[in-house]
Amino acid sequence: MKISETLNIPTLSTGDMLRAAIAAGSGIGKQAKVAVDSGALVPDDVVVAIIRERIHENDCDDGFILDGFPRTIQQSRKLDEMLKGSDDAVDLILSLEVPDALLEKRICGRWVHKASGRSYHVDFNPPLSLQKAKGKAAKAKRMFDDITGEPLEQRSDDTKEALTARLNAYHKQTVPVLDHYMQQGIKVVAIDAARDVDDVWKSIDAVLPRK
Ligand code: AMP
Repeated sequence: MKISETLNIPTLSTGDMLRAAIAAGSGIGKQAKVAVDSGALVPDDVVVAIIRERIHENDCDDGFILDGFPRTIQQSRKLDEMLKGSDDAVDLILSLEVPDALLEKRICGRWVHKASGRSYHVDFNPPLSLQKAKGKAAKAKRMFDDITGEPLEQRSDDTKEALTARLNAYHKQTVPVLDHYMQQGIKVVAIDAARDVDDVWKSIDAVLPRK
């Protein structure tokens, strides 16, 4: 969100788009649901088709940020082809790196306010409603957004089991994508995202391309 605001270009998150398709019960959503819930990757053709369509919308004319895509070498090749068609290329890759053990803590305690994207954590950033319940367990009946008072939700794949599958897919299929771009001479910056949000932001802000 902050990167989008700073560069004034949209963020396209394939994960968000797939969750929206699942919630809407569309054909793509039905195809994707089992994979998303279990933490497996959705077939390349499905996500490539979603991105292909989205990047042709007007708000992408000055560029866009891809969040969670490409996640396989095949997706990277397809993306490179798509961009070549309009004489474009990937400018910068930010690899936000967090050790698996910390990721498990962050993800399994995460609750989100769907409408705004605000994210909370049972221990690291509890909503006021949980703080007031002093020491009680994080259950849906005491998890509400600080600003709107609306209910918070947990993602269906923010479980230990699904996370194991997501991390496997990341290490086996997504890490090679970084090499794919390094070999093309594209700038790949590793960001230590195990730190505070403000520190992580400073590192990101320092490498963003400015016009
Ligand atoms: P995310 O919100 O990026 O963590 O993605 C959530 C889930 O959506 C992933 O675990 C996959 O099941 C699916 N997904 C999102 N992006 C992709 C992608 N580029 N390729 C395949 N599956 C994806």
